[in-house]
Amino acid sequence: MAEYTYPHGDGDADEMPELSDGDDEDVDDEEQWQWMEEEDSQPVTCLFCDRVLSSVPATLQHCTTEHHISLVDVIRKHNLDDYGYIKMINFIRSTKCDASCLTGLPDAPLPWESEDFLRPVVQDDPLLQTDPEELCEGLSPSTCPPSGAESHDALQQRAQAAEERARRSEEALARAMDDLHKLKLLAQGLVLNAETRRSGNLGAVAELREDEDEAYFSSYGHYSIHEEMLKDKVRTESYRDFMYRNPDMFRDKVVLDVGCGTGILSMFAARAGAKKVIAVDQSEIIYQAMDIVRSNQLEDKITLIKGRIEDIELPVEKVDIIISEWMGYFLLFESMLDSVLYARDLYLADGGSVYPDLCNISLAAVGDTQKHQDHIAFWDDVYGFNMACMKKVVVPEAAVEVVNADTLISEPTVIQTIDCNRVCLSELEFASDFCLKITNSTDCTAIVGYFDIFFDKGCSNKVMFSTGPQVTKTHWKQTIFLLERPIAVQAGEELRGKITVRKNKKDPRSLFVTFDLRDRKLTYSLQ
Ligand code: SAH
Repeated sequence: MAEYTYPHGDGDADEMPELSDGDDEDVDDEEQWQWMEEEDSQPVTCLFCDRVLSSVPATLQHCTTEHHISLVDVIRKHNLDDYGYIKMINFIRSTKCDASCLTGLPDAPLPWESEDFLRPVVQDDPLLQTDPEELCEGLSPSTCPPSGAESHDALQQRAQAAEERARRSEEALARAMDDLHKLKLLAQGLVLNAETRRSGNLGAVAELREDEDEAYFSSYGHYSIHEEMLKDKVRTESYRDFMYRNPDMFRDKVVLDVGCGTGILSMFAARAGAKKVIAVDQSEIIYQAMDIVRSNQLEDKITLIKGRIEDIELPVEKVDIIISEWMGYFLLFESMLDSVLYARDLYLADGGSVYPDLCNISLAAVGDTQKHQDHIAFWDDVYGFNMACMKKVVVPEAAVEVVNADTLISEPTVIQTIDCNRVCLSELEFASDFCLKITNSTDCTAIVGYFDIFFDKGCSNKVMFSTGPQVTKTHWKQTIFLLERPIAVQAGEELRGKITVRKNKKDPRSLFVTFDLRDRKLTYSLQ
């Protein structure tokens, strides 16, 4: 869904105003405000006939009187959110259905469920720039022309709604300006550096990403995150055991540690017998790693390089082994595996290996009514106030929490196996059908996701660890996808579904996870 960001989003790049040189920003601002204000009075083509109406409210009125359908009633009846509303409009426009197709629809599935209907059918469709909530509340200045008889309360509400709209527009404008700034940098990079960059526009894009990555690397600059990782014994001891128990694999080898942090994995490798270890990290923690390596008299074996693996040049052409601890929540969050694959493809010698090499991502069904209430029903009554609208933002954000193994109500199932020695970048986005064998008759309140890690290839002493709910907890905990409406399940039945994992194009380090489960399409973000 993130590809389409209206009605309050920041729009696609190709809808953007032309690049400015930045000197006349104020003028641009004014123009954009005017442009936004004008939207309210744009002509609108009726959804069901060829009539062109003067505004959105006139169109709604026309639909009610001429086509006997109240869009507001349809929105209310099906509880449509922004995306549902957009999809409905595009569905009507693309299928050219008549008004009667909107009456007597089932609660689910709606005929516009497909994300294809997020794509606008009519360019700059004013109906798509209208907030369905405001339509329903009748608070939109456009749907509710001022009348002298309005009560003080109604006026105040209208003023608040207008303020809210202004705030959202301001935010949209800020995002658009930010995107413009980035586009400008991109254009400059392409023009100025086309010849000197390693790979033309890829280099320029990399430069843009630098901004975004700054926050990511600065989070790794602080000691606390490394303390947490080092204290995670399941994690750190697995790496240690893999290297110390397989010294024959490390003896006299050249090892690359992608994202060395404090240098712990490099030091394990050196102690395990590696001839040379090259340790790379872009974050400031590497300055500590330099001291740490010296304090342990390993400076002759370990060479530390500050920089992104994608940007630096290694002092050797090829390495025998790549080690890295790149795993994020739900395995792929952070997208650091991309960097390991980059290093693998560029530096790994023939016959070399990446460790850990195998990873499984698993799902299981959870029945935990108490947790569900704490997270969802909680918003129905907060100190006597109804905050139910918060559920709309709470549910789609996957939670990182420890799941009590007693609340599992299905056998786990592996939905994806990744072999780090073979996988390619495009395979890190995938869809997979799954089947959860239910073990308890109860309500399924969530799906839990986690991963297992294996040091396997060629090891005489294989090592693995799991981040699942049945074993010692790790700092990755588990990832929980809450179901707003629990699903009643019976022991012995198979809960079938499909999971799709893809990167958020606007922030490739974060993920979108979509479940198709019993006629429901549920999309979660992990950020
Ligand atoms: N290996 C350490 C730290 C793991 S955390 C340990 O096991 O304790 C991951 C580290 O990788 C962070 O310090 C982060 O700054 C670094 N990192 C992530 N992507 C990188 C990249 N593309 N180039 C260099 N370092 C990277």
